[in-house]
Amino acid sequence: MLALLDTATGNVARLEPRDRGRLSVYLCGPTVSGSPHLGHGRANVIWDTLRRYLTWSGLEVRFVSNVTDIEDKIIARAAQENSSTAEVAARYEALWWDTMAALGVERPDAVPHATAYVDDMVGLVADLVTTGYAYQGGDGVYFSTESLPGYGLLARQDVGTLRAGARVEAERDAGKRSPLDFALWKLAAPGEPAWPSPWGPGRPGWHTECVVMSLDLLGEGFDLHLGGLDLAFPHHENERAQAVAAGKVFARRWAHNGMVVDERGEKMSKSLGNITSLPDLVARYGGRTLRALVLQVHYRSPMSVTAEALEQAQANVDRLDNFARETRDAGPAAPDPGMLARFRARLDDDFDTPGALAVVFAAVRDARAEPARAPALAAAVRECCEGAFGLRLWHEEAPLGPEVVALVARRDAARVNKDWAAADTIRGELQDMGLVVEDGPHGTVVRRER
Ligand SMILES: [Zn+2]
Repeated sequence: MLALLDTATGNVARLEPRDRGRLSVYLCGPTVSGSPHLGHGRANVIWDTLRRYLTWSGLEVRFVSNVTDIEDKIIARAAQENSSTAEVAARYEALWWDTMAALGVERPDAVPHATAYVDDMVGLVADLVTTGYAYQGGDGVYFSTESLPGYGLLARQDVGTLRAGARVEAERDAGKRSPLDFALWKLAAPGEPAWPSPWGPGRPGWHTECVVMSLDLLGEGFDLHLGGLDLAFPHHENERAQAVAAGKVFARRWAHNGMVVDERGEKMSKSLGNITSLPDLVARYGGRTLRALVLQVHYRSPMSVTAEALEQAQANVDRLDNFARETRDAGPAAPDPGMLARFRARLDDDFDTPGALAVVFAAVRDARAEPARAPALAAAVRECCEGAFGLRLWHEEAPLGPEVVALVARRDAARVNKDWAAADTIRGELQDMGLVVEDGPHGTVVRRER
């Protein structure tokens, strides 16, 4: 069984599922107020790969990821565009799923939306007020972090240090008793979207939705809570604090992926002005190259997105495609068990995807050196890349051309989005080009009619 670093303890430990053979997983999803950025791409690709690997290993994985469709940034965007928050959220959610499909990220099993859970959130906040963990401030309801022993677990810093860091921000928010306290309910300003509550019309604070949704859809003591390292504190800590205060067993394990950095090693963020839009990068380099880029870096290390790193990712994909084509007619063979075992050993050790990629490339070299082993190694490489990594390989010759490649990618994206009408239309276009179109286990397979 896979071992992962648990952010709460700082130790690498095996995942022990709550229910035998099943793993319940929650990943914090997007706030749909703008275009997805590279950090979203990295987190969603690496955790999609974890989900695929565990499924490929025989576990039944239930994967839940939310959409925050009401939040300050969405309200600001709607005001700026003279539009509604519902319209803004729907537009950027559509862009989100298109981009995820292009990256080969599978849809979560459930996608709860914040606006569908407001009543449940009001219920949780009311409970926290009743039990004394929350209080009414000037413009809403706040969680009292000092009332909860052990607050700060995921930050892995003492509360005094955290409090000093939070003080600057708190000066702008006079309703709080302590700088670390956070809003559970925000009273609406005139004209803002609002839901009824015992404290007046308003909207939930961002940290509350994931608690309510994850416990509703995965149950108490679910197995694994995932997200980017920037979410560990305060977002995840604040989720955990509410669940603990409400007397619930929350996520049993936490894992966080590292940040995306620029060539100077600084975190990419809007304030640095170097943010690159994820859809733009997908359009320029293709989803497979970006997927390879994520896999060639350990999930906990910073990942730099540079022209050099992208070229290396492209070269890796090309090498794998070339090998798939070379061995296409090698005939059916059982995957080489030794290679599969080495691949699994790397991933089971804190999800070492660069190590697992190295095993794949070693198999490519071995197959060329020992042609007798090539069919079994080719079958193993295909299993690892397409089954476990979600990285589709091109088994056909290049003459199919970029137009066909683009159509196949669009059809696969349509199928991921369950847009069967679009998938059928694209199938027709490919058939009109004289191609045979099949639905393979990992997506559309096309070949020339013989
Ligand atoms: Zn969350």
